[in-house]
Amino acid sequence: MSTLEIKDLHVKVKAEPEHPEILKGVNLTINAGEIHALMGPNGNGKSTLAETIMGNPRYVVSQGDILIDGQSIIGMAVDERARLGLFLGMQYPAEINGVTNAEFIRAAINARRPDDDQIPIMDFLHQLDDTMAQLKMPEDMADRYLNQGFSGGEKKRNEILQLMMIHPHWALLDEIDSGLDIDALRIVADGVNSMRGNDFSSLIITHYERLLDYITPDVVHVMKDGRIIESGGPELAHTLEKTGYEHLKAGDGND
Ligand code: ADP
Ligand code: MG
Ligand code: MG
Repeated sequence: MSTLEIKDLHVKVKAEPEHPEILKGVNLTINAGEIHALMGPNGNGKSTLAETIMGNPRYVVSQGDILIDGQSIIGMAVDERARLGLFLGMQYPAEINGVTNAEFIRAAINARRPDDDQIPIMDFLHQLDDTMAQLKMPEDMADRYLNQGFSGGEKKRNEILQLMMIHPHWALLDEIDSGLDIDALRIVADGVNSMRGNDFSSLIITHYERLLDYITPDVVHVMKDGRIIESGGPELAHTLEKTGYEHLKAGDGND
């Protein structure tokens, strides 16, 4: 079975020994087919974890490892990780001028496929049409420059469009629910749920229990001060909604 393993992960933004750690020993194993939610207050390392797994070069792994099926990926560039099946839906999706949404997604799909097996253009366009309709996105969004002038909610929906078109094995979804009204939330959740299967796993980062009413996670983790301080079943999200994060100790209790 396929697994993504995070082992005693320590991360900084500079390699110097005196530089403070953002992640202070994170342990997490996600098996194929599982959806994990990562919750916790702002500024505690959730996005740092997602960016580090994807290979953002701003983050330096000072200790520990990230493994896919037992193979370390920390020496790999972002594109190599993408070819292994990793995907990051960003908290703050980038705007790219001069590249249309459709061109971007097609390039992302083809970059993950061998040169002699690129996606036929008509297949791509049909899939794109269908998926955009499913996400209730206006057709002209395909031809607009990537995320340029998109509202917050449109950017989030667009991350889910990429997710559904690219079909990654592991999707790291960073606050895909922020700024969404209830209808958009449901559409985004339906999109993620449509991906569920033995070949798809996800780490869903969210502040709010609301999203988890629509996407039922297998495991819920709470991150505080660079560590996972509590893990449990879906009921943990509901408990947190009532009690908040304050009562949780910032201890060293990794799962
Ligand atoms: P969360 O996603 O839980 O809100 P982040 O991972 O974004 O938290 O941030 C955790 C901490 O790391 C914060 O104190 C933040 O300021 C710091 N941090 C994150 N990224 C950087 C960076 N590129 N440079 C400097 N500090 C950073
Ligand atoms: Mg934040
Ligand atoms: Mg964040």
